[in-house]
Amino acid sequence: MFLLKVLVEHNVFALNNYFYYCSLKEVQKGIRVLINFNNKELYGFVVESKFIDSDDINKVSDDLGLNLKFIDKQIDETPIINEELFKLANILSKRYFYPLIGTLQTILPKSLRPKKLSNISHIQYEYFYKLHDDQIDKFKINNFEKKILNKFSQIDFVPKSNFSQSKSLNSLIDKGIITLEKKEKYRLDIEPIFDYKKQFSLSEEQAKVFEEYKNSNYLVYLLHGVTGSGKTEIYIKAVENAINNGQNALILVPEIALTPLMISRILSYFSVDIAILHSSLTEGQRYDEYRKIKDNHARIVIGTRSAIFAPLSNIGVIIIDEEHSDTYKENESLCYDARDVAMIRATYHKGKVILGSATPSIETMSKAKSGVYKLLTLNERYNHAELPEIITVDRTKFTNFPSFSQVFSYQLIKEIKLRLLKNERTIIFINTKGYGRSFYCRECGHTFKCPHCDMNLIYYKEDETLRCNHCGYKIKKPSTCPECGSKYLSYLDFGIEKVEEDFKKIFKVPYLVLDGDRTPKSSQISTILSKFNKKEALVLIGTQIVSKGHDFDDVTLVAIVNADSLLSIATYKASENAFDLITQTIGRAGRADKKGLAIIQTSFKDDNSIKFAINNDYMSFYKNEIERRKLLNNPPFYKVINIEIIASDADLTYEVAKDIKNYIQVSNENLIILNPSEPFWYRKQYKTNLYLKCKKISEVETILDEIIDTYKSKNNILVKINVNPIDY
Ligand code: ADP
Ligand code: ZN
Ligand code: ZN
Repeated sequence: MFLLKVLVEHNVFALNNYFYYCSLKEVQKGIRVLINFNNKELYGFVVESKFIDSDDINKVSDDLGLNLKFIDKQIDETPIINEELFKLANILSKRYFYPLIGTLQTILPKSLRPKKLSNISHIQYEYFYKLHDDQIDKFKINNFEKKILNKFSQIDFVPKSNFSQSKSLNSLIDKGIITLEKKEKYRLDIEPIFDYKKQFSLSEEQAKVFEEYKNSNYLVYLLHGVTGSGKTEIYIKAVENAINNGQNALILVPEIALTPLMISRILSYFSVDIAILHSSLTEGQRYDEYRKIKDNHARIVIGTRSAIFAPLSNIGVIIIDEEHSDTYKENESLCYDARDVAMIRATYHKGKVILGSATPSIETMSKAKSGVYKLLTLNERYNHAELPEIITVDRTKFTNFPSFSQVFSYQLIKEIKLRLLKNERTIIFINTKGYGRSFYCRECGHTFKCPHCDMNLIYYKEDETLRCNHCGYKIKKPSTCPECGSKYLSYLDFGIEKVEEDFKKIFKVPYLVLDGDRTPKSSQISTILSKFNKKEALVLIGTQIVSKGHDFDDVTLVAIVNADSLLSIATYKASENAFDLITQTIGRAGRADKKGLAIIQTSFKDDNSIKFAINNDYMSFYKNEIERRKLLNNPPFYKVINIEIIASDADLTYEVAKDIKNYIQVSNENLIILNPSEPFWYRKQYKTNLYLKCKKISEVETILDEIIDTYKSKNNILVKINVNPIDY
């Protein structure tokens, strides 16, 4: 008989314990089982299986202090998670203070989670006839049969659907000359939407960087290359290097919108099998892609954040493109950072990690400068393409803007018209969603706020609503002010809907929109990008999505219509993010032989982020920013830990936060711990944030484990930990 150590799926922390069951058969680690738990049927996950003598069962029961029961059913035949990913789950669970079972849930695709069995994810097959030519000579073949065999003149496999049932067909099957075969069918069609030349040779600067990469032995490389320097060419060579060594490669891009481009570039160069993983695949497609990787059919995996958990074996290189992106950090459930996970996985496989960016995060650059990571630099744009000329337009001078638009300055209108005339492309970047950034009364100044979060409501014209982008609160746009009854209500600052409206009015030409709110699906994004690529419209208006990575030739104008909204964000990373976005957006222009122009409309042209971005001076920005971080005890000098306290009672969250703060202070007086935030409304409950700063996570590990332990059995309160949150 076998004694099984089982993790039970349940969302409350109290069940993050092991339970023991027995089974007559051995059940391998990593297999899901159905168990009876307090008269409830639950799914469990076997983490250990040990042989015990049937006679010893009473003794074992006594030792464990429980009445051992049998499992109800074994669900999988083979383990659904391999040794490496299981080890990884253990490491991540500790590192991010999250239950092991929840960590496993995050690592596995939905259809394989130890939760419930999904009925959609079954394998689909395609059927083919296969020719066995060595059998032909053994039989006499008649003319009808010959006709059928002619279909095999070029290929060995012919789809079953190409044949209709006939006597001759059956006769060939009976003789064993052709056989019916099935092949697993993958539901996702992976096709390139952009054309790229198959072959290229590296420029001198690129070749030097690649040699440095190949001939050194670091775990992590930072590839710092200005926009348009050909970082992707280096990635491709690094992937090729791994493939040639018999290893596999994993490539992460920061958002779904950038997968079509990376897929096109990889497909044009490699003939090996590729798998794709991102959140807009259907459950069936994801299951197929996952299996393709797990069964060693795919050599290269391309995906967004969670693809870092792809069950790829023998990983030679993990590439993280635009490594500075916030999207690599998960902020719900298991709050992992894909870059950290990459390093753990690469260590296991003795592979390498390449972090690539034109604007590396301050943390990453500081590690590269101190020699922990190997710094590789590309200073030139490929083909010596020039960086665009940059013009700033002062938003505070109303003479810069026509009376009919506060979005498009005279200068911007002129330059866009010029591009339309010359059949060249323009990208317009706007950071703000909706129509107006905040909604207020022009008579008494009353500002409409979210009753739950106290955040300014955003005005959306498409359905005449005011919405809170924080909690999802939404109301019809009021027609009078609740304070003074005035009808004169207005909005402050504009969002993408307003940009579109003015564009239509002024230019009267077709345009395309990429808006995170309205085009979330990868298929929609591909369609829009491919239309822009074919010049079906010469203007692309968009939020963040348009700023990154895209590579269209003859985009000769980019416009940041309101850089102010980038500067008004209150997190420690605000200037870094503003610098990144401006630099990246400018980098979209003038990538081929034509020189580009970037127009930045702002009220603060002397702000550091804007100034350094305009001068394309990352290193000076870095020096300036790292000084500030040091002064304010922010990363990379300190780790920030967010302790979230969530409950349906606002006061309770605050009281608990104060208790936790006191407890931490008593345990270690050297830690920096901030006052708890006011409780705020969050997903139908209240939340209070507590921030803690330490030099090393190891200083606080025990304390945090104790805190989690203390609150995990309390039903009315949830305490969660987020290491290095992005919204601090
Ligand atoms: P980055 O990612 O650094 O912004 P890309 O990799 O997109 O830059 O390269 C910019 C452009 O230059 C692309 O169109 C790319 O195909 C081209 N390019 C870069 N390096 C080479 C090369 N060695 N041979 C041919 N084209 C190249
Ligand atoms: Zn009013
Ligand atoms: Zn709200």
